[in-house]
Amino acid sequence: MIAKPKGTYDLMGVDAKIYTYISHEIEDMMSNYNYELIRTPIFEASELFHRSVGETTDIVTKETYDFKDRGDRNITLRPEGTAGVVRSVIENKLYGNKNDAIKLYYNGTMYRYERPQSGRNREFTQFGIEAFNSNDPMLDAEVISVSYYLLNNLGIEATVAINSLGDAESRKNYTDALVKYLKPHINDLCEDCQNRINTNPLRILDCKVDKDSEILKNVPKISDYLSKESKERFEKVKEYLNILDINYEVNENIVRGLDYYDENVWEYIADSDGVTLGGGGRYNHLVEALDGPSIPAVGFAMGIERIILNIKENIEVKNLDQAVDVYIMSVSDEEKIRALEIAQYLRLNNVATEINSCNLSMKSQFKIADRLQAKFLIILNNEDLQKGLVNIKDNATKEEIKVDEAEVVDWILGNI
Ligand code: AMP
Repeated sequence: MIAKPKGTYDLMGVDAKIYTYISHEIEDMMSNYNYELIRTPIFEASELFHRSVGETTDIVTKETYDFKDRGDRNITLRPEGTAGVVRSVIENKLYGNKNDAIKLYYNGTMYRYERPQSGRNREFTQFGIEAFNSNDPMLDAEVISVSYYLLNNLGIEATVAINSLGDAESRKNYTDALVKYLKPHINDLCEDCQNRINTNPLRILDCKVDKDSEILKNVPKISDYLSKESKERFEKVKEYLNILDINYEVNENIVRGLDYYDENVWEYIADSDGVTLGGGGRYNHLVEALDGPSIPAVGFAMGIERIILNIKENIEVKNLDQAVDVYIMSVSDEEKIRALEIAQYLRLNNVATEINSCNLSMKSQFKIADRLQAKFLIILNNEDLQKGLVNIKDNATKEEIKVDEAEVVDWILGNI
């Protein structure tokens, strides 16, 4: 037997039902908030991720799936969605006349060579939004609220932890102060942090190993280093979040793991267990850094597997069981042909219908109809069919009624 690769999984059973339910919610939300679907390739030129996610990030240094294709090109399986979307916006000139906000969403698989554990896979799915052309914090607030209310609609209570990384100058001043403070203590921090101080000092703030160390608890505060404009932008987004009734708290340790973020950044933390379900922020300089025009942008990504886990652990998922409206029972050849015809009409009229396609006995068909929670049974028999009638049974009240065969679809549509 050939087993699946480590860190991958087969989506099936209850998880598949929850996945479908989440996907429908996402599509509804995206349509209500006026975001358009974009699908970019699962693999891209490696350089795209090196230049966007950042050469020194954990993702690029340790986690990408890189390979040479048969044409000797350096290819990487996408570890996140933003880089590909930005590449596409530039390549297809989607930024248009730069007046209108371009609002896009994606939902697809990502690949990171991480140590697999609960909620951490090597192949996983992210839903995300990328919105371009507007630098207004109102768009930050909209992007934050879409996923906050998506979680809310799915029954997940979460808190948005927000922070401001400031503009480039604020960030540079803060990083200098941070490095100055940390240098004398650096040997007391983990090995990764000892490297990060030279490559990416901000990442030390969200180190999982050193998170409880006194050294990190007393670091300089980034809020003391923000420019007037960055502070105003941060205050504005908080004002909008209050209007949108979003549960948020400021957390100065939120720095995000990717290099391209600036100004406002945030993460969604599940109230039930403190797990991070997703995160996002502004990235006003990424489009330009990837050889596009200078246009501002904001976005976020959420992990679908972590949402599925949360729903499974905390929410009653009974009503996601597979259910049909109608089960059509048949045994003889004549009955089976009529079952096929009636099922076709019902299915094409949006009535979920199942038939006996396994040559089952009547007894087994009753059992399956119950398992599928069929609201109505259409019980065909040759005698009724010869008179042009079919027998419909309400599976809850057990009442039966004979209906003219030509009217069966209308009758069902009128009664479900
Ligand atoms: P990131 O792109 O690292 O900011 O991740 C955004 C979200 O994607 C996280 O909060 C997780 O929900 C999800 N995620 C990231 N990496 C993984 C992984 N290896 N396995 C499953 N979900 C992940």
